[in-house]
Amino acid sequence: MINARTKLCGIIGNPVRHTVSPAMHNAAIAHLKINYAYMAFEVSGASIETALSGVRALGITGLNVTIPHKVSVLPLLDELDPLAQNIGAVNTIVNQNGKLKGYNTDASGFAEALRIIGFNAKDKLVVLLGAGGTARAIGFALAQQGAYISLLCRSSGLEQAKLLAQNLDHIAQHTITTLELNDANLRKELSHAKLLVNATSAGMAPNDTETPCPAELLEPGMAVFDVVYTPLNTRLLKEAHAKSCLTVSGLDMLIHQGAQAFKLWTGQDAPIDVMRRAAIAELKLCSAKETTVKPAAPKTAVALIGFMGAGKSSVGRALARKMGKAFVDIDRRVEKSAGKSISRIFSENGESAFRAIEKEITRTVSSSGKKVIACGGGVVLDAENITHLKRYAVVIYIKSDPSIIMKRLAISRSRRPLLAQENWVSHINTLMSAREPLYAKAADITIENGDADIDSAIALIMQKLGRYESFNF
Ligand code: NDP
Repeated sequence: MINARTKLCGIIGNPVRHTVSPAMHNAAIAHLKINYAYMAFEVSGASIETALSGVRALGITGLNVTIPHKVSVLPLLDELDPLAQNIGAVNTIVNQNGKLKGYNTDASGFAEALRIIGFNAKDKLVVLLGAGGTARAIGFALAQQGAYISLLCRSSGLEQAKLLAQNLDHIAQHTITTLELNDANLRKELSHAKLLVNATSAGMAPNDTETPCPAELLEPGMAVFDVVYTPLNTRLLKEAHAKSCLTVSGLDMLIHQGAQAFKLWTGQDAPIDVMRRAAIAELKLCSAKETTVKPAAPKTAVALIGFMGAGKSSVGRALARKMGKAFVDIDRRVEKSAGKSISRIFSENGESAFRAIEKEITRTVSSSGKKVIACGGGVVLDAENITHLKRYAVVIYIKSDPSIIMKRLAISRSRRPLLAQENWVSHINTLMSAREPLYAKAADITIENGDADIDSAIALIMQKLGRYESFNF
């Protein structure tokens, strides 16, 4: 029973509603009859520092940290356990009398899951997808075991992947390769790999029709480990099973990283079987709710994001024609709804009024599929816009060279209220560097050559969309 002496633990992340950690930890707490409780807190990147101040101020005992905060949380902590320091990612925080200490239990959770299936990574080639917090921990565990590691991630994360490879260099027994995640590189690396590990969030509900690796590139007989555990049987695992691969879900890793965090907060050995049963029951409950209440939406729409002047409208219009879908330009809808130009909305009502209309239109437009949506440059400033868009749409970032964008904007500047000021060039540079990580984060697909002619951009988009089951060209 919760009372005045109950110690509170929890998980921070965004999104966090998919997590089964509360069910797992509360079951362990109830089983051991200890006075603890565990909650899930959805915390955005902008609020992370405030949230941690709250943890200190409220005396919260400990936290798990999940997507996307495992790396960004590091500088905000008072102390780091050497393993977390080495890995460069934290998934567990312990509040020691107001001082927050970061730990990493993902690496040993992953190693334990490999041990259970009897896989020894020594001198074997492992293809690791992703360069986020979880990939860091898994890379560390694999390097410690003496694996050959090929690290593949989207172009937006390549710098991060190279840093990760450098950080692992001192424990790795073999050189770590970093490559862009694309079909050609997957084909080359998987042809002689023994294990594929998906440490990205591709395939996680509600985007469970996605896969980070096309089925035809999976090699029969290899092992495939998916860290994603919602759903337990991801599209990647289903396709790997059909190709006679040994498949491993993220469940064992989840349970073992959780058990170690539990011990750090409570000092007690976690009841592993109790946690496993609770996690499975919760996963079944979630998937039952998803299928009865809200069927997973097939992705039949495309949303184009990117900086102003990147060519979202022209590419979007031509793409819609090519795919036989309706075309929606959110900026034009905003103008129609307000009965005036965007410049006038800005000057007469202010940017916040524009953002409010933009949000409402984005929500409405996102309530069904089968369309191509050109979004305004600032749509990514509000995470809820992206959540709405992703319900039916694959989000594509049209990335253009800054010098090309500048040239285009110089021509259309008079229509763009954000560029009304004298020093507009430096303003654009500031806006671009602030927004770039938001576009990269929101994107399911990035089109690097947004400067190319429209036909080439469309051909590239169609090729990349081919990975999604619902886009059959
Ligand atoms: P991060 O946000 O730190 O990293 C996510 C990584 O996934 C980034 O490299 C990101 O690339 C990449 N990514 C996201 N979407 C796609 C996509 N559609 N295609 C290719 N790459 C993509 O998240 P975490 O590392 O914290 O979590 C990753 C996953 O691991 C989550 O699903 C989480 O639930 C799961 N997890 C499972 C655990 C378990 O015990 N089983 C434990 C911890 C996490 P980019 O930088 O380009 O955006």
